[in-house]
Amino acid sequence: MKKCFILLAVLIAGCTTAKIPQSPPAAQNITANGKLLASLFQQRAAEYQALCFQAYNLAKIRLDQALLLTHNKPLAIVTDIDETVLDNSPYDVKQSLVGKDYEQKSWEEWTALAKADTVPGARSFLKYASSKGVKIYYLTNRAETERKGTLANLVQKDFPDAVNEQLILKGAVSSKEPRRQAIAEKYDIVMLIGDNLGDFSVLFDKKTSEERAKNTIASASEFGKRFIVLPNPVYGDWENSLYKYNYNFTPAQKDSVIKSVLKSY
Ligand SMILES: [Mg+2]
Repeated sequence: MKKCFILLAVLIAGCTTAKIPQSPPAAQNITANGKLLASLFQQRAAEYQALCFQAYNLAKIRLDQALLLTHNKPLAIVTDIDETVLDNSPYDVKQSLVGKDYEQKSWEEWTALAKADTVPGARSFLKYASSKGVKIYYLTNRAETERKGTLANLVQKDFPDAVNEQLILKGAVSSKEPRRQAIAEKYDIVMLIGDNLGDFSVLFDKKTSEERAKNTIASASEFGKRFIVLPNPVYGDWENSLYKYNYNFTPAQKDSVIKSVLKSY
């Protein structure tokens, strides 16, 4: 009888203290889970850092080569902001943990905080370019409503040319081509830097996944030369193109597309 009582007490104690492993709420769909792992790569993989340094080291070599040439106009570098000079992975993690993808409202709350960290190598390269008299243009699809936070973030992180005139936000169209052309009227754009192919050429605006791949092959010689590409495994037109730029897809619709395009054997 005494033994039974002790056994029962042990069992009850075991039941009350045992911890059941909890799955995070994000364990609902492929995109949220995928973005968590991709963000982990961005935040914790030294390989991510190495890729960024590789991009900016190459950018410096290419800039030095361009500086030796004769130019008819003053020189400019056109750089994207998100996942090119600023790291927004905390936003992606916060969304993914509650099973959500990008949303404009929560995104603008994040950018207003002006607390994004820098992408490795970005600041030192841009400061080097600026020291050589090259104008830096920040060409981004952040909205005008994000101007204050964006500028504050760039200034706080000590980026060169972080002034209103050189921060070109999204206008009437999302394509960056008209804004690139406007800069090209006054400057010789020696280099474009970005994590999304639309940061480089109109050839990649709103194109299908297949067209993007085809046009990338056609532009192959520009990468690592005039086009400097940063890694972004979390989001971009590589993903949007799969959904045919339908930004209202539900997580289930996205899952369905992802499953249909993945290769296995
Ligand atoms: Mg970007």
